Amino acid sequence: MLKVYNTLKREKVEFKPLVEGKVGMYVCGVTPYNYPHIGNARPFVTWDVIKRYLRKRGYEVKHVQNFTDMDDKIIKAANTEGVEWNVITDRYIKGYFESMDALNVQRADIYPKVTEHIPEIIAMVQKLIDNGYGYEIDGDVYFSVEKFSEYGKLSGRKLEDMMAGARVEVDTRKKNPMDFALWKSAKPGEPYWESPWGKGRPGWHIECSTMSLKYLGETFDFHGGGSDLIFPHHENEIAQSQCCNENYNSFAQYWLHNGFITIDGEKMSKSLNNFFTVPDILKEYPGEVVRFFILRTHYRSPLDFDRDRIKEAQAGLLRLRKAWDNAQELIEKYTDKKLESKDGAFAELVELADKAEKDFYEAMDDDFNTALAIGYLFTLAKDINIYYNKVQNEGAAYDAESFGRLYDVYAGIAGVIGIFEGSLEMPAEENAEDGLSAEAIEALIQERLEARKSKNWARADEIRNSLKEQGIILEDSAAGTKWHRA
Ligand SMILES: [Zn+2]
Repeated sequence: MLKVYNTLKREKVEFKPLVEGKVGMYVCGVTPYNYPHIGNARPFVTWDVIKRYLRKRGYEVKHVQNFTDMDDKIIKAANTEGVEWNVITDRYIKGYFESMDALNVQRADIYPKVTEHIPEIIAMVQKLIDNGYGYEIDGDVYFSVEKFSEYGKLSGRKLEDMMAGARVEVDTRKKNPMDFALWKSAKPGEPYWESPWGKGRPGWHIECSTMSLKYLGETFDFHGGGSDLIFPHHENEIAQSQCCNENYNSFAQYWLHNGFITIDGEKMSKSLNNFFTVPDILKEYPGEVVRFFILRTHYRSPLDFDRDRIKEAQAGLLRLRKAWDNAQELIEKYTDKKLESKDGAFAELVELADKAEKDFYEAMDDDFNTALAIGYLFTLAKDINIYYNKVQNEGAAYDAESFGRLYDVYAGIAGVIGIFEGSLEMPAEENAEDGLSAEAIEALIQERLEARKSKNWARADEIRNSLKEQGIILEDSAAGTKWHRA
């Protein structure tokens, strides 16, 4: 029995699909104005494993994940570069897919974009107005949170408390400071679409209500994202969808949220200069290592991006790979040389395989506990290596049937975790003994940052030049300093 932690219920509950054998899932995607950062990578790796597991359990899964391809940040980036907004979104949607491919994240079935769903969004905003939940002022349309009695049910907040904590610079035109925008009137020079309320563009939250309705219907199984999206984004999605739907209690049944990522124990932020993009990290570690590192921790627990722990994950993954190679070597040798198999000679291998498989399903059925599941992979790797030694070095008989079963279970679990799917190429710098290590470079960049803060320009330039001599190029931007090898 699959149990999942439903944020809406604040407990683990049994998962029962709305339609037998089928699962609909909606995952909030990225705003493509920059390369995805490591915090973005976690939900997508998490949902990828959830999807792989549900498929292994025999469900037919439909996975929808949006791109918020119109937003203040996109407009700002386009203005900074002096290009059209879609130059920015095209570039970073491509960048998103490159990063996710490197992390072995399988594609969703549908990637709807806001700008391709404007008529549907306008229709939903109009319906919210018609149903008495939306109101228009000067070309802006707001959702009236007081009208929706269940507002706050996902995040467990009370409207009175939210209002007390509302910031001072409230828009006095709104009926309640917590009311949120469904449609925003266009400021001069901004991209816009024609609407019944004049030129404008959608508010942030409405797209997910509109696009989940279009592709999954009024009610569907899973809705996911990072825990930072619980409020206000998912709370607002619930309000919009429930107030539009025919059945008031419809919309997503199970809300799953992954925990935060910290960097060396600190919150990730541009001001702390620890804002790592996935492409930055992929210069240091193979995507499979980063993926494996993410999945060694249960998805709801906080995860600290610490280089020692990534090194540990890398060493662990290499051990699993070694057993994988050993197993394949045995199977190929048997097939190539047409050796005789003594089927059933090592029936204990089947027992080990059965036990590991049962343990694996139990771990994953318990709210997708990948940390535990990976532990069983290590047990199987040990079993594989012991048998490999017996056959290769001690002259034991080859039992194709029993070993085949062990191998199948190992491969099946690895397929859900999403490893061994390509060659594991270690980045060149990882092996460059004589070059500066990534840690040493980061330390020098930090020292340079401090030198600049204290206006010690000479020292700052010295560090830049000394790194350059060693083939390390620094690039400063508003997001901090990035480096690459020349
Ligand atoms: Zn969303």
